[in-house]
Amino acid sequence: RGSLADIDPDLHELIQIEAERQYRKLILIPSESTAPLAVREALGSVFQNLYAEGYPDEETRWMSEAEILDYNARLTYYRRYSDPRYYKGVEYADILEALARRRLAELFATNGISPDQIYANVQPLSGAPANNAVYTALLNPGDTILAMNLLHGGHLSHGSPVNRSGKWFNVIAYGVNPQTEQIDYDEVEALALEHKPKIIIAGYSSYPWVPDWARFRAIADRVGAVLLADIAHIAGMVAAGVLPSPVGHAHVITFTTHKSLMGPRGACILTTDANLAKKLDRAVFPGEQGGPHLHAIAGMAVAFKLARTETFKQLQAQIVKNCAALTDRLAQRGLRIAYGGSNTHLGNVDCKTIAGPDGTPLSGDMAARILDIAGIVLNRNTIPGDKAALNASGIRYGTPWVTQRGMKEAEMHKIADIIADVLFAITPYSVETRKGLAQRAKVNFEVLEDAKLRARTL
Ligand code: PLP
Repeated sequence: RGSLADIDPDLHELIQIEAERQYRKLILIPSESTAPLAVREALGSVFQNLYAEGYPDEETRWMSEAEILDYNARLTYYRRYSDPRYYKGVEYADILEALARRRLAELFATNGISPDQIYANVQPLSGAPANNAVYTALLNPGDTILAMNLLHGGHLSHGSPVNRSGKWFNVIAYGVNPQTEQIDYDEVEALALEHKPKIIIAGYSSYPWVPDWARFRAIADRVGAVLLADIAHIAGMVAAGVLPSPVGHAHVITFTTHKSLMGPRGACILTTDANLAKKLDRAVFPGEQGGPHLHAIAGMAVAFKLARTETFKQLQAQIVKNCAALTDRLAQRGLRIAYGGSNTHLGNVDCKTIAGPDGTPLSGDMAARILDIAGIVLNRNTIPGDKAALNASGIRYGTPWVTQRGMKEAEMHKIADIIADVLFAITPYSVETRKGLAQRAKVNFEVLEDAKLRARTL
């Protein structure tokens, strides 16, 4: 019955310390945001305590929010008819999940598609499981997927050899044009015609431009493929109408709810096709998962409500403006922006152009580590031209979190200046040069290496 502070003071303190880190640092990780208190209250609620394998009644998809929330009617129905769930005790869980699904359908209704035409599944535990559920629904082992080269900005659940998607399916990768560093749609089309994929995936982790949804759909239609739009990163901006929506173009849409959508950790799947919806529902449960995380679904319902507000729309618009301001200023300061810029919430700096006296390029890892020490949190990332994920020469930045803190273009200029000042102050050098420097300074090389090791663990 005690509070966390009473029962586990160490963990309580750890949480305080992490909260302090989040407050103190400038977080530019594009896949992160801070979930509002209301979302976290729902996450910590008693909906955490129950099992509800299955789905709410299908008919609730077409009910208004008010009808779903009409408890008397819902409870009468629940008592009179057998519930499609496996367990009893889910009368309120039914209302919760139906509400989350309806709010989501209303939030993403656009491009001439009404909420009643959108089938939403809010049960996927996260983005990668959501994508794998789509494959479970639509593919057999050995089938072909056409997806973005991971080194050019795709996600590991789009066919990486270390992910199940890459082990079970035949993955063909499209990439960016080496000159423009942007998607070459003619190449995508040629690959689709040659390999006849069953699924084409558009939507990325570090590629900073919004895909041309109509063009992707036209390519998918030419080869009879399903177009999967994975908008994990940009879901918030799409929901706000700030970026073009794949609704009405893609057959299936997946996204996480914890990135720019600023909700709990989790994911959703949307489709406008009733047959696909049945397959997708069965693929999530019982295909991939057992009981849904109802507390996360409660958090989603709150996040979807917040996402309909004017404040949220303005915030999402500012996220994109801030990213443009940050990107422009970084470029003005002489840093090379990979992919030629950005029209979303994220961008990538090419660290290779910052070279030491012996020509050794600055690695993305070193850049990210030193910026972290300077109070700016971002991550190393591969950019076009890199050969391996572990040898990334880029750093990826994004503006959701700093925009949530109320920052605007002026602050973005300041942040860009700090990044540029820090990066240009680093002098990368090779092992040989380091040995030479150590000898000249009469420092034992091993001591220097040891210091480096310790710096790494900072
Ligand atoms: N899809 C894309 C495009 C992503 O960027 C990510 C995560 O970064 C995911 C899917 C996977 O999400 P999760 O980490 O929640 O499994």
